[in-house]
Amino acid sequence: MIELSYFAAAVLFILGLKRMSSPKTARGGIVWAGAGMVVATFATFFMPDMGNYGLMILAILIGGGAAWYTGKKVAMTDMPQMIAIYNGMGGGAAAAIAAVELLKGHFDNSTFQVLAVAGALIGSVAFSGSMIAFAKLQGLMKKSFHFPSQQAINLVVFGLAIAFGLYVMFAEAPGGFALFMFFALALAFGVLMTLPIGGADMPVVISLYNALTGLAVAFEGFVLGNAAMIIAGTVVGSAGTLLTQLMAKAMNRPLTNVLFSGFGAVEAESSAGPEGEMKEIGAADAAVMMAFANKVIIVPGYGLAVAQAQHKIWELSEMLEEQGVDVKFAIHPVAGRMPGHMNVLLAEAGVPYDKIYDLEEINAEFPQADVALVIGANDVVNPVARNDKSSPIYGMPILNADQAQNVIVVKRGRGRGFSGIENGLFFLDNTRMLYGDGQEVAAKLIAEVKQL
Ligand code: NAP
Repeated sequence: MIELSYFAAAVLFILGLKRMSSPKTARGGIVWAGAGMVVATFATFFMPDMGNYGLMILAILIGGGAAWYTGKKVAMTDMPQMIAIYNGMGGGAAAAIAAVELLKGHFDNSTFQVLAVAGALIGSVAFSGSMIAFAKLQGLMKKSFHFPSQQAINLVVFGLAIAFGLYVMFAEAPGGFALFMFFALALAFGVLMTLPIGGADMPVVISLYNALTGLAVAFEGFVLGNAAMIIAGTVVGSAGTLLTQLMAKAMNRPLTNVLFSGFGAVEAESSAGPEGEMKEIGAADAAVMMAFANKVIIVPGYGLAVAQAQHKIWELSEMLEEQGVDVKFAIHPVAGRMPGHMNVLLAEAGVPYDKIYDLEEINAEFPQADVALVIGANDVVNPVARNDKSSPIYGMPILNADQAQNVIVVKRGRGRGFSGIENGLFFLDNTRMLYGDGQEVAAKLIAEVKQL
């Protein structure tokens, strides 16, 4: 019955993941995967030799309660750091399992012992690395941190962790000290590896640690002979690896470059700011410009999510369409603060999928657009990514909003984007700034279009 329950849980995980691949079914997918987790957790209570039921229930209540509370409370825009902390916990849990098994010290065969040590190493790195990623995204620590000979020191710490790992693996009775050193060095490596990575690269790193957590869980699943852990870990590991690759590609950066170059950490002020001045426009003029356009491309960004302006923007688009305007939404793969952020928000507001275009699909259309309405987006339309090698976002493909006939940028003031750099788009001759909170501006635009 236990094995059957684990099989059912595995099927639920996989189907849940499948459903998450489309914004339409994504919410359902989360519920399916969650149900799988409930089944797997429940079945574990019936495993032979399970003592400590009281402790198990207490742990579930504490962990579940904390997750429930934070999950309810977290703002959509703070989701990446929450994902970082939850992922990290998974890696930490896998490492803790390994610690217990290694302390017990009797393995059915040596392969399991190797897997236990490998899982412990990977899980510890994922745990401590994710905590640093959390602290950076939450603004608790500086976005990047450098000291001399950083890469060499990291390499030494990693080498020492491996050496203690090998000792733990092959010594007759490794003892508590060797185990302690092994875990301490593995945890330290996770911290050191994450310190120099710049804030703009954090999403890729979080996704990588997610994949590592999956791998660690799968390894420990072998050690415990637990099929649910093996399957869930493998699914998380492979999904995380794919996501990491997709995100690195979206930023046009090989993963090694993200991890080892300290790129994305270039100080914001290092490059000279763009020249010219920003020209303002009022809601009335902006409404006229859009209502009498043939084609308007809307570029939503993180600020749209902050302002929760998705419903109003869709209402505005529908009104423009009634006036005969061709309206399209252009989504950059890293717009917002997590993969798929904008797609989910627009889907929530009821924007049909055939109006939503990816970067590659829409970029060629900007020159034919009369207006590009950039709302709460900054980095993803920053032309500096094309030509300024010193810029932290150099090489990242961007939406070519600057090539539209006219650009209207909605934002509250002179706030920078996630990467902390100035945006030349705002200073172009064909750009007008429409200042205000995204939702309030959208409401004003709706009111103005109504009057036309
Ligand atoms: P962005 O570069 O972070 O810029 C957002 C802009 O929105 C800011 O300049 C801000 O200017 C404006 N804003 C903030 N609140 C607003 C409000 N209430 N109303 C109107 N405007 C508001 O956003 P983005 O262009 O979407 O780029 C995303 C960035 O996040 C990229 O650098 C990406 O690498 C990074 N990132 C992405 C992910 C992912 O997986 N998608 C995850 C983490 C980080 P004001 O303050 O002047 O209003």
